[in-house]
Amino acid sequence: MQGTQPQPQPPTPAPWPEGTIARYLTVVGAYVDITGEAYDADGICHGCETTPVQSGYISRTIHVVRAWAQLHAETCRALPRPEVS
Ligand SMILES: [Zn+2]
Repeated sequence: MQGTQPQPQPPTPAPWPEGTIARYLTVVGAYVDITGEAYDADGICHGCETTPVQSGYISRTIHVVRAWAQLHAETCRALPRPEVS
């Protein structure tokens, strides 16, 4: 018996952009990021670049932005543009 079998590691998630406080994954694998603070939050979908304000969510409270992000992540099918290196 070998004592040191390599354990499969879960994939390391990419680091979040600075200022990101929450992140939602859309159905096609794009990210919806929330930035800011509890009463001054904002969001952006990296698939279609929609923000909560563009979706009609004018409050910047974290609960509202989270609700937008959750709903948007469930419905958005835009893929993020591939990164150019
Ligand atoms: Zn989107």
